[in-house]
Amino acid sequence: MNKAYEWRDAPQADFAVLGDPVNHSLSPRMHQAAYESLHMRHKYVALRVPVNELEEALEFLTKKAYRGVNLTLPLKETGARWAKRPDDFVRRVGSANSLNFLDGSAINTDAPGFIDTLPSLGLWPPTPVLLLGAGGAARALSVALEDAGHRLKIYNRTPDRAKKMIADLGLKAELMKEPNPEDVGLVLNTTSAAISDEAVPVQWYRANKKAIAYDISYGLEMTPFLFQAGLAGLKVVDGLEMLVAQGARSFEWWLGTAAPFDVMRQAVR
Ligand code: NDP
Repeated sequence: MNKAYEWRDAPQADFAVLGDPVNHSLSPRMHQAAYESLHMRHKYVALRVPVNELEEALEFLTKKAYRGVNLTLPLKETGARWAKRPDDFVRRVGSANSLNFLDGSAINTDAPGFIDTLPSLGLWPPTPVLLLGAGGAARALSVALEDAGHRLKIYNRTPDRAKKMIADLGLKAELMKEPNPEDVGLVLNTTSAAISDEAVPVQWYRANKKAIAYDISYGLEMTPFLFQAGLAGLKVVDGLEMLVAQGARSFEWWLGTAAPFDVMRQAVR
């Protein structure tokens, strides 16, 4: 566990990750390592903010001269509504993970960060994808995947939520009654099932052995989803590279300078 402050006890700093819970976050370690390698004097901390206190916390941090924040579970939707200048993507998916207090702008670096990780996995040209989940991350990644030309099948434990997501976002995706990975090149887990040490009941026996199983959660050596995919013979990928890619994009957006990608990766690996 990393050190996290209650937001009312926030120390003087420049950037923070806000969430509830947030003590699992690797962002402070990653951003602090980046500043130090570039001899920047910025400070990045983790602050616990309950979702019903987010607006109050954001006003407080703005007055305390913080420059910006990252948002994690479960704050991204409320953060998108708070922003005075959300970009087009944030407006479309209703989820922001990076806020800039200087001008009230908001972007989502999860989606492009995730797309950044695909070419090195050989997932280009676009391949059919089975996407599991219908939460904030699923909303952002489904739009980014379709925009990049991937064909989507979507399964969620609560089917109505997936149905609503497809309708809200105008996706062309097929709604799946069962998590059937037949004929896809990527099985993408965007659920938070790993947090409660649970697997998603994917019908692995139907999967193409050349498909990739990608779990965007990180911090566990092996999530139940990846463990089962590995047993079924698939190549498995966790969410750490995506974490670094989205962090690097936030860094560059706030500071206008190239992120030290390798330093950031080393800090979390
Ligand atoms: P949300 O709370 O918005 O959504 C959670 C989703 O997970 C819902 O679809 C929910 O289904 C599903 N779910 C939760 N528990 C289970 C379970 N036991 N079995 C099956 N489905 C389950 O979360 P987010 O979308 O914001 O985040 C999801 C995950 O992605 C988190 O683990 C987060 O850490 C990770 N993440 C990683 C990033 C990275 O950089 N690597 C960036 C962003 C997120 P239902 O609708 O039925 O409740």
